[in-house]
Order: sequence, then C-alpha cells, then structure tokens
Amino acid sequence: MSDALEGAAVLTIDLGALAANWQAMARRVAPAACAAVVKADAYGLGIERAAPALWAAGARTFFVAQFEEGRTLRALLPEAEILVLGGLLPGLAPLFARHALRPVLGSLPEVAEWAAFCRAEGADQPAALHVDTGMNRLGLTPDGALVLAGQRDGLGFTPCLIMSHLACADVPDHPLTALQLARFSEVARAFPDVRASLANSAGVLTSPAFHFDLVRPGIAVYGGTAIDGQPPLRPVVRLEAPIIQVRDGAADETVGYGASQRLARDSRIAIISIGYADGFLRAFGASDGAPGAEAIVRGQRCPLVGRVSMDLAAVDVTDVPGVARGDRAVLLGDGIGIDELATHGRTIGYEVLTSLGPRYARIYIDAPAE
Ligand SMILES: *Cc1c(COP(=O)(O)O)cnc(C)c1O
Repeated sequence: MSDALEGAAVLTIDLGALAANWQAMARRVAPAACAAVVKADAYGLGIERAAPALWAAGARTFFVAQFEEGRTLRALLPEAEILVLGGLLPGLAPLFARHALRPVLGSLPEVAEWAAFCRAEGADQPAALHVDTGMNRLGLTPDGALVLAGQRDGLGFTPCLIMSHLACADVPDHPLTALQLARFSEVARAFPDVRASLANSAGVLTSPAFHFDLVRPGIAVYGGTAIDGQPPLRPVVRLEAPIIQVRDGAADETVGYGASQRLARDSRIAIISIGYADGFLRAFGASDGAPGAEAIVRGQRCPLVGRVSMDLAAVDVTDVPGVARGDRAVLLGDGIGIDELATHGRTIGYEVLTSLGPRYARIYIDAPAE
C-alpha cells in the first residue's frame, strides 16, 4: 500500500463487479434496453470512474438527478444519452440544449417552457415526459399526459421517453405496484411511438411486465438488495479502517462518549480510524442492550462497542488472538454487505453508499482498459 494511503480508511471500488452487475441486468431485460442510473455521484462511488466503466460495459443511456450532474457526465461521456430526472428549472432550457442534456419534464409548466424554447430555436430538442402514477413526487398526472398525447402536433418537440417511477417495488405484492403498472400502461399506449420506461432495480426483478422499452436499475448494479429477501448481485464496495490502538478495558468500565456501553468482562478494545465524519454513521454504534455493526478483524467477526465518534470507533477484539496496532478492520466486504450495515443503522443500503465520505482513500480496481 502506498504511503499516501497509510493511516486512512480505504474504500475499494470494484469497477469489474459494477460492469458485471450492469451486464447481468441488461441480459435479464433484453430485448428491452438497460440504462445506468448514476445520480448522486454514482450512488457515492464516484461518477468519474463509474460512468466510463458502465459505458465500456455497454450502457448508452444514463440518468442523473440534477443539471450539474448532467454537465459533469457530459464531459465524461460525449456520446451518451443523458436524462436529468429533476426536470427543468426556469430559464435553464438553453443550458440543457447546449450540453445535449434531456430534461425529464414532470409538470405542465416544464412542458410549456421546453416547448416554447424549441419553437423559439426552431429546433425539436428531445425531452422525456414523467408521469406520476401514484408516488406523488414528480410527474404529470396521467390525465394530463393523455391530454398531451392528443396534442402531439402542437407540442413543439418530440418526446424521447415516457416514464414513471415505482414507489413500492421493493416490497413484493404491494398493491400500489399493480396500480402504477396499470396507470402507466394506459399512458404508454397513448404514446405508441415513444420509448416507455417504468422499472427501477426492483421493477426489473419483479416481472418482465415492468420492463417496457428501457429499464433504470441503480441499487442492484451497485451491489445492493433491490427486493427485500432477494440476494444482491456482486458486492462493489469494500471498506477497511486501520487499527490505531489496542487497549485493555476492565469489566464494568464503559467505552466512548456517553458511557453508553459497559464492558461485561475484561476486554481487548481495538480503536479504528473511522467515524461519522466519514459517513460511517453514528447509528452503527452500540450501547447496552442494543448491539451495533460488526467488523472483521483477522478473519473473525467482532462487535462494535460504544458510540461511533467523529473520527473513531471501537471494536471488541477480546476473542481474536494477536490483534496489533496497524491491523485493518473490514467494515464492508468479506460477507458484510451494505444492506447488513444499513440494518444496524436503521437505514437502507442506498444511504450507506451515498454517505461514503471524501476522507477515504479510494482505490478503483478492475477498471476497463482505456
Ligand atoms: C434512483 C432512481 C432509479 C433507480 O432506482 P433503484 O432503486 O436504485 O434501482 C430509477 N428511476 C428513478 C426515477 C430514480 O429516481
């Protein structure tokens, strides 16, 4: 390991696994097309490395959340189709066009502004239409979309995609999912010449009925669980923190802020160099009666003890012989997945990934050939 990485927690990102996971999703949905969702810095993994790896794997359509993410991605992938899920903020249409970014229009004012821009430019710039089928977040009402379908000649631009987003596909058999499918199918039928897209990762895995022309998997490609109880694809991230001190703690002493956990026996405590400032959430910590996350030290699982502080956490290594300063504790990897870690923090794998902090030394392995 290079000097620069000594002392830092190390995040290893397996771009080969990322590419393999995307290809597995693409194979599963063929002949439907498979996009790549790279919003939020590619779910925290780093868009500058993830997006070219996904392009090399075969992805040609990419979704980001915000205009600035689209501009970053455009510089990385000059030929990709890039759609911006957050839609069009007032006045931004010329910037979207300049960078060949396609807004996902989610309200009638956005549609009107894009149409006016296209008419003024005398150019039919592609944009996507988002229909809200039950999430009440972004999107035209289904009725509003049907009205637009009847006014296609006067629209001023050609929609390149009609899409909606599933609210509950991670919970099998949730009644809202069937309702959303029915509502979306009706709207998609009214745009027979426009590509249709409904499925996130969970939608892809639920049934081919959700695939339509284009799917938009995110979390499954990043190695997370998409549907409760279904095994994830290959893990993409590994996180290790150095042990910077090993100390003895006597039975009945407490560990860390708030004295939240009392040692039940004479213990060996390893202090690791990672904390909530790194996105290793405070909620991963332990207290009396409420175990926290686990770390793997010298091949053995060990519980965290006490609270996670800003830069440090403590691990009980009493049962692991020979633990020494400079050893490394594995917090993600070797069987600890993002979903397991998320459970300890009462959150989801998405939040574990997107919280991964800038202080880690990041190593990208198995990158595609240039
Ligand atoms: C984030 C997002 C996705 C990807 O969802 P996953 O659950 O990560 O597969 C797809 N579509 C939209 C609109 C999204 O916001």
